[in-house]
Amino acid sequence: MRPDLLNPYFASLTELSGIGPKLAKPFARLLDRPEGARVVDLLMHLPSSAIDRRARPTIAEAMPDTVVTLEVRVEQHRPTPRGSRAPYRVVVGDDTADLTLVFFNTDRGRMERLLPIGETRWVSGSIALYDGMRQMVHPDRVVDAAGLARLPPVEPLYPLVEGLGHGHVRRAVDAALHLVRDLPEWQGHEVLALEGWPGFRAALEAVHHPADPAEAGPEGLAWRRLAYDELLAGQLALCLVRARTVRDVGRPSLGTGEIARRIEQALPFSLTGSQHEALRAIRTDMGSNDRMLRLLQGDVGSGKTVVALLAAATAIEAGRQAALMAPTEILARQHMKTIAPLAEAAGLRVGLLTGREKGKVRNELLAALKAGEIDLLIGTHALFQEGVAFRDLALAIVDEQHRFGVHQRLALAAKGDAVDVLVMTATPIPRTLVLTYFGDMDVSELREKPAGRQPIDTRAVSSERLHEVVERLGHALDEGRRVYWICPLVDESETSDLAAAEARFADLTAHFGARVGLVHGRMKGAEKDAAMAAFASGETQLLVATTVVEVGMDVPEASIIVIEHAERFGLAQLHQLRGRVGRGDIASTCLLVYRPPLGEVAGQRLRALRESEDGFFLAEQDLKLRGEGDVLGTRQSGFPGFRLARLEVHGALLEKARKDALKVVADDPDLIGPRGPALRLLLHLFERDIAVRLLGAG
Ligand code: ADP
Ligand code: MG
Repeated sequence: MRPDLLNPYFASLTELSGIGPKLAKPFARLLDRPEGARVVDLLMHLPSSAIDRRARPTIAEAMPDTVVTLEVRVEQHRPTPRGSRAPYRVVVGDDTADLTLVFFNTDRGRMERLLPIGETRWVSGSIALYDGMRQMVHPDRVVDAAGLARLPPVEPLYPLVEGLGHGHVRRAVDAALHLVRDLPEWQGHEVLALEGWPGFRAALEAVHHPADPAEAGPEGLAWRRLAYDELLAGQLALCLVRARTVRDVGRPSLGTGEIARRIEQALPFSLTGSQHEALRAIRTDMGSNDRMLRLLQGDVGSGKTVVALLAAATAIEAGRQAALMAPTEILARQHMKTIAPLAEAAGLRVGLLTGREKGKVRNELLAALKAGEIDLLIGTHALFQEGVAFRDLALAIVDEQHRFGVHQRLALAAKGDAVDVLVMTATPIPRTLVLTYFGDMDVSELREKPAGRQPIDTRAVSSERLHEVVERLGHALDEGRRVYWICPLVDESETSDLAAAEARFADLTAHFGARVGLVHGRMKGAEKDAAMAAFASGETQLLVATTVVEVGMDVPEASIIVIEHAERFGLAQLHQLRGRVGRGDIASTCLLVYRPPLGEVAGQRLRALRESEDGFFLAEQDLKLRGEGDVLGTRQSGFPGFRLARLEVHGALLEKARKDALKVVADDPDLIGPRGPALRLLLHLFERDIAVRLLGAG
């Protein structure tokens, strides 16, 4: 399917010289490809900043504390005296002044090889004044003439993970660039001329080998071009899909209201105005001759699940089936647990399908599904795999859309004839971007919180006062309250993440005994379920968790959440986490534990959180405050689902890409015109190839 021209881009990273199985592992983590990274993943891993080594002053001219590259003569070695902890010093000079190079933990032999007396060398680093003397402590680079010729004038720095250094990434990137050829141009001539953008491969070359530091950044021409490529691929896929789905007329599902009525009777609460309104819109869509493509946006805790269930009821009343897809197994099981009793009260047959259902159970389930003996199938992405066939799927509901691509949404919709699609998300995307980001979807919002919710008392606490927190928790537990304790990813390595959670679990168990539970991403499915179930039933009262609880866990009795290393999270994520409490009518507390000193931006983030519980407001603040690098996870500052494009920098390009995509689809809906083959390459390159499949051969 994928054009051969792209083979080098999709080759395994291990095919690059210098990357063996040992390095492949940290690269897979770095590039977020657990199943093995590919060349394209590496090429799209762009620098976080760059060091400029172009300044070539004399020693006397060199400004302290800025990076310079100096041509020097080696004059004298002053080795560390035996038994001393003093550094090894080497005096170098040029015609204007002397400079002392300072090295710790080194040995004489090494130093004499690196800096032979009487020779000329180039040293790169920054000078500091020490008692009026010029020093350079640990130069970044010491090279001879041959080394100088190879020294990049501007050196990119990359986001890293444990086990990889900048050198590893740079060497791998060089090998990758060496491997890939340029591709036919898919952008229009006008846009290239207007923006002054380089070609695709030249742009990759320029971001990874910048001639000046600005070129390595997201605002540079090269990065902008790549971001535009990615945005265009995304918009083109959406437009192609949309053109297809509009062409297929819908099949109206007219409900009787019978099942919905029974479900509502079984609910311990009545629906909010926004829930009613959203349902009205959904039922109108489903009953019409057009296919539904609707986004249901609602802040955490706004009650999307029950809207999903009632939408499913409409499909089932019409004698057809519905599917609900969740992003993780925990969430799928959670939905099952919430929905099962209501479904039973209403006489619905519900099935659960995740990667864990295997063998006989799975086969029986699939047979029942095909025979129409299951009305609502809940599950993970296992739902859209081959072999899963419905008798008559009318409605596909996708929870937490930002975790899925257009791919999965389509694959699920392809399981039936003119399937209506309802996408649910808690990620507040600024209004201006909803349409462009999700494509031409209709939007419903759950703005109103369910009645009886109390504001969450949110406080920031220094980790130096952790013992006080633990002490107060003791009282809360004695009162029977339930507490989440979140341990985040500490340094982007799964093992230390886990270690931190396990250490905290041991620590809290020492205080509170068997009342403490633990759940983390590395546990087996059944273990996770057991830990969650114990917490939900109150058997354990304090649940130590890694961020697996981030999305969707619903234990209304939980009323306290402690978030460690709160300074490392982004606002949106903290808001999501905090949304795990305040779901019942008990007054809730959120303790944001930070490690001092608290940086400026992190401080503002925690303040915003204390002041507001409005996800939309917080999302806007988040955009304003977003600093590179100090938010957990390198991918957080992108558009969700995009690798290169950044919301805060490339937002305006999105609108442009959308216009271009609309025009392409209007002029050449099957991509068979002159620009067609290149645009197909673009779709493949950014893995939006589901859209290509829709086009068929050509
Ligand atoms: P989210 O939108 O985050 O997915 P959920 O659907 O999990 O939210 O709902 C959060 C909690 O609010 C659940 O415990 C749910 O039963 C409850 N809930 C939903 N709608 C209402 C309502 N209208 N009144 C009271 N509680 C509600
Ligand atoms: Mg939910």
